[in-house]
Amino acid sequence: MELLKTIFGYDDFRPLQKQIIDHILAKKDTLVVLPTGGGKSLCFQLPALMFDGLTIVVSPLISLMKDQVDQLQEMGVSAVCLNSSLPADQYRHHMSLIRQNQVKLLYIAPESLVRPQILEMLGAVTVDCLAIDEAHCISAWGHDFRPEYRLLAQIRPRFPEAVCAAFTATATPAVQKDIQASLGFSADTGFKPFIGSFDRENLRIRVIFKDNPLQQTLGFLEAHKQDSGIIYCLSRKQVDALADQLAVQGFLVRPYHAGLDDTKRNRFQTEFIRDDVRIIVATIAFGMGIDKPNVRFVLHYDLPKSVENYYQEIGRAGRDGLDAECLLLFSHADIPRLKSLVTGPDEQQNRAAWFHLEDMVRFAEAQDCRKKRLLAYFGETAATDDCGMCDNCLAPADQVQDLTIEAQKFLSCVKRTGERFGAGHIIDVLRGAETKKIFQFRHHLLSTYGIGKEVSKKQWFYLSRQFQSKGFVQREDNYGGLTLTPEAWGVLKKETRVSGWLDPRHRLSQSSEAAT
Ligand code: ADP
Ligand code: ZN
Repeated sequence: MELLKTIFGYDDFRPLQKQIIDHILAKKDTLVVLPTGGGKSLCFQLPALMFDGLTIVVSPLISLMKDQVDQLQEMGVSAVCLNSSLPADQYRHHMSLIRQNQVKLLYIAPESLVRPQILEMLGAVTVDCLAIDEAHCISAWGHDFRPEYRLLAQIRPRFPEAVCAAFTATATPAVQKDIQASLGFSADTGFKPFIGSFDRENLRIRVIFKDNPLQQTLGFLEAHKQDSGIIYCLSRKQVDALADQLAVQGFLVRPYHAGLDDTKRNRFQTEFIRDDVRIIVATIAFGMGIDKPNVRFVLHYDLPKSVENYYQEIGRAGRDGLDAECLLLFSHADIPRLKSLVTGPDEQQNRAAWFHLEDMVRFAEAQDCRKKRLLAYFGETAATDDCGMCDNCLAPADQVQDLTIEAQKFLSCVKRTGERFGAGHIIDVLRGAETKKIFQFRHHLLSTYGIGKEVSKKQWFYLSRQFQSKGFVQREDNYGGLTLTPEAWGVLKKETRVSGWLDPRHRLSQSSEAAT
């Protein structure tokens, strides 16, 4: 408590901070999953001051390291970093300070930490804590896998006296397991995970159908005349174009992406933080480690690559606890471009990336409470079914269409074709198409052949996704056929009524009208 006040200047701990710090001080391995802004840094910085030896902080980005080291030094804490951007004499100076036990916190990237020269130096001093920031980077199932993080698995045993604490703001239950396994965390040696709440009650979440994004953006900004906010785009080109278009309209706006040189980027970021400019148009490069309390809106001009990314990005709004608006412009037309963007040489990583993207699409299409979905994604159960802060909870119920008949037709067609075909073939059968596959399997003889002609192919696809997300049908994997769930029988036996939307455009434009 004394250090909290005198060094960090805070009166009290934030939720979980005290428990986490106690656990680390007891030298028990720890996994911390706390949302951005939850106060993770303090959880390793404070113990670092109480330990006699050194705390190593592994961090992926030089800019993040630098910010934290600068802050700590300002508070009078002896913290240094070792990275390739340091001048040689300073690097040597930092090394000698560490050797003389004069450093409390060493910030370092994983690929530097494994260098023999560094390991040798660290072997000669006492290391009390190995803190791993952005720990989700260790998991190939995470949304931001960094192969160099894998090296940490080998490093961990080199510091048997040190407690290991992993920190992340985004980890699904699967990624949490992966982190645990990679670092050899075991309950037998006192390991414990600390998972904070991901609920951000002050964020209002909406998704609208993207048809004229520039006009939609201008309309949105019109309603946020005084507010400061971030607009996320997929590509640098889009960032530059949109920033220009908004500047022409008289907005105080700056672009931000990895293609700009460092000086410019830093200047734009500072201008934004100081409220000298109101709007930042950015790629996802923007925001890591940014702590601006009064971001009033986050607008997604394009679909994010994953729910984790989405959550991180909207999480930059409303840090001051006041209400903030999150608007996502969603169009199915963006999906192929996104898919190619996340596709690389590694087959396994592609599968993970497509999987994440598909989750994001499902989130955008969802018709139930969005907050509940977000929380469920991170393994948390929402307190209510109706948050009152998302478009779906706010949409009047009478706008929903009755889809019971369509659901019955679709599900019985899945049944009659033997539960082994994908949506495309089922829809062909329903619409009475004359494909080779239909004749080959003699599906033109089924009673469900051609009973869904009045619904367009596109509408059927949209319906099929809704039936999936409502849990009537499921798929083993991306390539497998659709199978019925026990819930589907309620629909087939005419016990369950199904509601939803025939057209995404209809539904999403309704909700945008309702919200304005
Ligand atoms: P995270 O790494 O989880 O995103 P940070 O460690 O950057 O979060 O902390 C977010 C903000 O909260 C920082 O401005 C930090 O100074 C502040 N903060 C952290 N702990 C406390 C506390 N106990 N009381 C008040 N402010 C705190
Ligand atoms: Zn809701």
